[in-house]
Amino acid sequence: MKLILTTGVAFFLLLIQLSAHPGGHYHEKDLSSLHHWNVNSKGEKAIGNFMMFKDDFIFIEGLNGSISKIPYSSLRDNDKIYADNEINKINQFNSNNFQQTKLEINYSQLIIFILSIISSFFFLAIGLKLNKNKSSLIPRVSFSLLTFLFLGISIIACKKSNVISTTTPSNDIPRTTTTFIDSAFAPYSSTITTSWDSTYFHVSCNGLPSHNMMIGITNWQQQVPIPQNYTGSNSWSIPLQPVYATTPMSTRTNFMKGAVAIAVNGIPIFNALNNRGEDSYLIGELDNWGGHCGKGDDYHYHAAPLHLSGTSGLLPIAFALDGFAVYGSKEPNGSTMATLDSCHGHIGANGVYHYHGTTVYPYVIGSMKGKVNTDPTTPAPENQILPQAFASPLRPATSPLRNASITDFSLTSPNHYLLTYKIANKFGYVEYSWNASNLYTFILTDTAGTIITNNYPR
Ligand SMILES: [Zn+2]
Ligand SMILES: [Zn+2]
Repeated sequence: MKLILTTGVAFFLLLIQLSAHPGGHYHEKDLSSLHHWNVNSKGEKAIGNFMMFKDDFIFIEGLNGSISKIPYSSLRDNDKIYADNEINKINQFNSNNFQQTKLEINYSQLIIFILSIISSFFFLAIGLKLNKNKSSLIPRVSFSLLTFLFLGISIIACKKSNVISTTTPSNDIPRTTTTFIDSAFAPYSSTITTSWDSTYFHVSCNGLPSHNMMIGITNWQQQVPIPQNYTGSNSWSIPLQPVYATTPMSTRTNFMKGAVAIAVNGIPIFNALNNRGEDSYLIGELDNWGGHCGKGDDYHYHAAPLHLSGTSGLLPIAFALDGFAVYGSKEPNGSTMATLDSCHGHIGANGVYHYHGTTVYPYVIGSMKGKVNTDPTTPAPENQILPQAFASPLRPATSPLRNASITDFSLTSPNHYLLTYKIANKFGYVEYSWNASNLYTFILTDTAGTIITNNYPR
């Protein structure tokens, strides 16, 4: 009798143990839970959790989501080891098939589990009673067996019901080969440099395309294209292992800042909507190539650079910052483009998701099919994807010039551009150039003939 009782209690305790799973991951964001980094020999400290490593810099996330960038070389030895560990963890995580834990409850099996527990105790009680009454051996043994049978059923029900959290594969996307991405950028290798590490494919360039620019703009902010330093730690980064987003983030309500993709000629592609939520193309802000310049005089596209297919053929014309390729108006095998989903893409014949560029909104990306990290310091819709390369402004931002349309733009000599615009049949000019010591000279001639010259050192 004691044996049955002890075994019954032991099973019950085991079941309670199996059902009692630890709760969610708890992360308290106070200073004590953040890592304190010794940044240099002077004992200066930076406080924050490791986020990522890129081009010899580590990025850490501090209180309130602030992100700081520390040169790896400036870390003290202990922190280098700590950073190495974190980098290894991320590399391992990226190379393994990502498994996500989730809690699912199957109610019918949960009911079987509970009924089986009740039944087993019912049979246990009868067994004990028969034992006390010194009944014959057969019913005592039978009820003991029934007790074990129902305990067994309850354990199986518990396991099948996922009362215990289960692991489900959430990402079976093959890692993108660097050969494939590099082949897409190869036709533009005279103006860009590519490289890669274990996590990202990097694109370095000065942000100026080899095609002409600016002509065709009828709604002009008076910004002009100048070279940008998209190199080293400020190069463009394409994740080599895309991961599907649980809920793709819409470009209607996100990413009004920064690029969402990088074209294969090294020009960033921004949201089709400008930061006021207007379709840049429809309101005349874009040139004949789908681009214009931002407040940093940084040239970028807002529409799909479908003209790149003229050089790229059937290769991708861009890569989204979630890691998926963007093709032109044809499928990679040359066939007519298949129907697009709400993200503006679909799974290709190779089983991998890709986007397509089109001539109508959203032009490139409707929603980010892949998971992206966003800058926690800028809330939606002004949030931007990280990592991302940044333009650096040379001169104060300019204001819109009403009714101006750009009629000509030309490189008159090396590092020397001339932009011509027209307002009511009168012409105005922006002539600008820079010398070897990066001194920029802007000569602005308005439609009344007034000339202003400004110099800006960089
Ligand atoms: Zn823009
Ligand atoms: Zn396709």
